[in-house]
Order: sequence, then C-alpha cells, then structure tokens
Amino acid sequence: MTGLHRNLIAGEWLGSDGAPNLNPSNTNDVVGIYARASQKEARDAIHAARAAYPGWSRSGILERHTLLRKTADEILARKDELGRLLSREEGKTLAEGIGETVRASQIFDFFAGECLRLPGEIVPSVRSNIGIEITREPVGVVGIITPWNFPMAIPAWKIAPALAYGNTVVFKPAELVPGCAHAIAEILQRAGLPKGVLNLIMGKGSDVGQAMLDSPDVNAITFTGSTGIGQRVAASCVEHKRKYQLEMGGKNPFVVLDDADLTTAVEAAVSSAFFSTGQRCTASSRIIVAEGIHDRFVTAVVERLNGLVIDDALKPGTNIGPVVDESQLRQDVEYIELGKLEGAKLAFGGNKLQRETPGFYLEPALFTEATNEMRISREEIFGPVATVIRVKNYEEALAVANDTPFGLSAGIATASLKYATHFKRNAEAGMVMVNLPTAGVDFHVPFGGRKSSSQGSREQGTYAAEFFTTVKTSYTSS
Ligand code: NAD
Repeated sequence: MTGLHRNLIAGEWLGSDGAPNLNPSNTNDVVGIYARASQKEARDAIHAARAAYPGWSRSGILERHTLLRKTADEILARKDELGRLLSREEGKTLAEGIGETVRASQIFDFFAGECLRLPGEIVPSVRSNIGIEITREPVGVVGIITPWNFPMAIPAWKIAPALAYGNTVVFKPAELVPGCAHAIAEILQRAGLPKGVLNLIMGKGSDVGQAMLDSPDVNAITFTGSTGIGQRVAASCVEHKRKYQLEMGGKNPFVVLDDADLTTAVEAAVSSAFFSTGQRCTASSRIIVAEGIHDRFVTAVVERLNGLVIDDALKPGTNIGPVVDESQLRQDVEYIELGKLEGAKLAFGGNKLQRETPGFYLEPALFTEATNEMRISREEIFGPVATVIRVKNYEEALAVANDTPFGLSAGIATASLKYATHFKRNAEAGMVMVNLPTAGVDFHVPFGGRKSSSQGSREQGTYAAEFFTTVKTSYTSS
C-alpha cells in the first residue's frame, strides 16, 4: 500500500494493513494511512525488544544521552510542523499542539541529562571489611501503552526514561493518534536508535495491547488510559509477576472560597475545565463553590464561556477545538442529557455545533445546582462538561472535594494562607494547585495521583527512576 505509515519492528518499517487517521475538525481530511499491527507482529516486536536488551542495557551512558538529546533537538526544531500534526489528528488547538510538542522535547532533553546522572551509593557495612554498593539496573522489556489525549507528551514521558535507564521498549499508542507516535519513532531512529531498542506497534488495544498483556516476555508495563483498561493491565501484571504503573481517570475538584480573587478563580476554572476540549485527566470537572461567591462566580464563568470560539483546531482564534471522535462526542452528549434528568441546571452550552467542515464540535457545558451524588459529578465524562456544586464553607468544600473515587489533581482559589495550607495537606490527590488550574504541570517533577486515578510509582522527573529501574545491593569483602 503506497503512503502507508508502517510499524517499526526490529529496526524495519513493516506492515501491509492500514486504516485512515481522520481529522476530528474535518472528517474529510485524512491525516494519513497508518498500519494496524496483528497479534503476531506484536509478538515479533516483543521478541525484537528482548533480543536488543542485552546490548542496550549495557550501552554507554553517552550513547543513550546522545540518542535522547538528538531526539529532543529534532522535535524542538520541528515544533510547528509536529504541533500541527498533533492538532490535526487529536483536535486540540494549534497553540496547545505546539505547546505539547515543545513539552515532549523538554522531556527528552531532561532524560538525556539524567543518563549522565545515573544514581548509585556506596555505604559502609555493619560488618568490618565489607563494602556495600547500591545500584540501579534496568527492568528489561518495557511495554508502553498510551491514550489519545496527549499524543506527544505522554509517549515522551514514558519512552525517554525507559531508554535513559537502559530498558528496551514496545510502544503501543492509542488507535486515534498514530501520527505523533510514528513521528517520534522516526525521529528516534534518525537519532541513532539501535535495531529493536524501541519497537512501534500501532493498532487496536484488544489485539496489539492484549498481546502485550499476555506476553511473559514483557517485564514491566506503564499504562495511561481509562480506569477500566488499567484494571486489566494490573490483573495481567499480577499474573505474569511483573512491575506496573497505571495513570488513569480523574474527577478533579476545584474549590472556590468566598475570599478568592474572582478573575483568578474564573480563569483557572474555565481553562482547566474546558481547554483542550476538557479532554485532560487533570481537568476540573467538579467546581465546588462557597455560597458567598457562588452567583458572582457562575455569572462570570458564563460570560467567559460566551466569549470563547469553538471551531477548527487549526484556525487562528479558536479557543476550543472539536471532541476527538464520534463515540466520545456521543458519550459527552449522553452525560449532558443525564445531567438534566438528574436535576442539575444547564447554565450554559451543551449543544452540538455545525462549522464549515464536518467535525465533532460541542459547546462547553456548565451545570449548576448539581450535587456530588449525581452521576455527572461522580463519573469521568472526559469532555467539555463541568458541574458547579454549591457549598456553605471551606469544611464542606474539602469534604466534597475528597468524596470521589478518584485522586489525581485538586485545586483551590483562596486568599487565605490558612485554608490554602490546610487544603494542600488534606486534599486526597497526588497533585494540589493553589490559585492555579488543576491542569498544567511542570515536566521535571513527579506526576501522578491516588485512589482509582493511579497505581504504582510516580512518572516524570527524577522519580521516574523508581519504575524504570530495579535496585541491586552488592556486598564485597576486601
Ligand atoms: P483507553 O483506556 O480506552 O485506552 C488507553 C490505551 O489502552 C490505548 O492505547 C488503547 O488502545 C489501549 N487498550 C485498550 N484495550 C486494551 C487491552 N485490552 N489491552 C491492552 N491495551 C488496551 O483510554 P483512552 O480513551 O485512550 O484515554 C482516555 C483516558 O485516559 C481517560 O480515562 C483519562 O483520564 C485517561 N488519562 C489519564 C492520564 C493520567 O495521567 N492519569 C493522562 C491522560 C489520560
């Protein structure tokens, strides 16, 4: 098939069967034809990673550093083109697409540096004439399974540390966004990736992903995606006695107290609930507002939403692009209907929109008079839909914020040092934001959550070493 973007297996671009990758802003626009790997190809990729492991795990740190630095450099040099590809296949705005591409470059650059700073310790023994070394070794073949909503950044924050610490990789991106994954694999190959050290297998989760879960030759799996699939990943890892790391859903609270600066609170709430079309695991989908500021806050949010432009992700001036695909759009609309049935008041939006080109456009939806017991407040919708829950005071706000199965990110808008400090200590979340959106994090510090949102050690920054290495303690008698 001509123009087919193929899988990368053992250093070769392979595959004959492809599927079109559609632009959600314009379904007449085919971004490209991308191969769909079979289960057999997935097993070949795992074997290739296994074969490459002895060489790569003993490779010099300068070789790894150079590979990751060159990758970072090329991604940055091509940020406009790659950002455009990202926005075209995922639907976030061009500014967001370019920003995420720059982020991916920064992550590769960070881990290029980490290659040169591999940690180790020498400590005395409690016994005489014995020395102890504590070293970190790679884990082996790492399976990387990623979602569609951050098609550059999430693969980067898994691939870069996996390779930096000497693991080999089988990478399976989400079906909806093979373009960014293919581009990253191509760039790595140009940067000097040895044969089999990273293998790209695009395709369906139920085929390719499942083949990874079923393989005893995969030593660790790092997964980001829905809580349901995450549970399957965990079960397979228990069965095969391998390490796993899961980053899953969220239902992140953003608390607004009476003393909050109104502009700060509105900007933080609107940006984290609705930008990137609300399709961020760290999105604020429950906005918990104290009664003294409630009405002013809702009026100001509605006014702000009225001024937003929902259109083609690539058009200058667009604030919010389309929903990623038809099935996600259907899910969003079903939850909007459910919210009405549950008795919440639709204070803004929620309608499907027509634009010049056929795409999955949806007005942001803001519910007020919601309770924390409603399904729209408990289940992850993963679209531009947020509920406002009215509370009496800080104590009730904190209780509502923590009353959720999830625990990824939590935010508060307040001028009070006392409440900000108390919230940082008591919010049941892996990340807490004060006077900032719940979404939007740095690349050099740990990322992750608690409860149903995450399992295993943290991603990103120096904390990534915890997952991508295993510790060895050696004793030497002199
Ligand atoms: P998903 O769970 O449907 O898919 C995630 C990945 O798993 C995809 O690559 C998919 O093909 C694969 N998969 C599906 N079935 C599989 C199987 N049987 N075996 C192995 N792999 C399989 O999630 P999605 O719709 O792509 O992404 C949205 C979800 O991701 C949301 O729940 C969101 O909250 C979550 N997310 C979490 C974070 C975080 O860091 N916590 C970040 C981004 C997205």
